Amino acid sequence: MRCYNCGGYYRETTDLVEIADSYVGTIPVEGVTCLICNDCGGILFSEEFVDKLELVRRKRIQEGIKSYPLKDFVTTIETAAMLGITKQALHKHKRISKGFIYHTKIGNIIVYLKPSVERFVKTGDGRFPLYKETVTQKKIEDTQLTPAVSQVRDKARKK
Ligand SMILES: [Zn+2]
Repeated sequence: MRCYNCGGYYRETTDLVEIADSYVGTIPVEGVTCLICNDCGGILFSEEFVDKLELVRRKRIQEGIKSYPLKDFVTTIETAAMLGITKQALHKHKRISKGFIYHTKIGNIIVYLKPSVERFVKTGDGRFPLYKETVTQKKIEDTQLTPAVSQVRDKARKK
């Protein structure tokens, strides 16, 4: 199979691949199949790969959100008021439930991260990086989870 990006050839691998994610930093994925282009390093993800990536990503997002102190969270009512919508509309809001406003649960109660709500009010996207690693990556690409060109660990490239 030829690379849709550069026309090079893919090879199948289950080696460690690191995906640079704009919100949670570098995600290592190992032991699941993906295709890596020998020429440009572009990756074609398998469904299994995407599932594993998404699992780690969600976990990291939750960890990132939960690292904030309680005072940085607002309730559903407060969030709805900040957005100028009803509580019901907030619960039904697809973008928000998809994570465009960072939220988590404390016990059974959903709480929203205030800086994320504020950002959402301004731009319609309340997400921001939740990690503190030094950004040395040249490219930050894959966040859409569609087959895309992503960074491959040097180790994988050399093999
Ligand atoms: Zn390629």
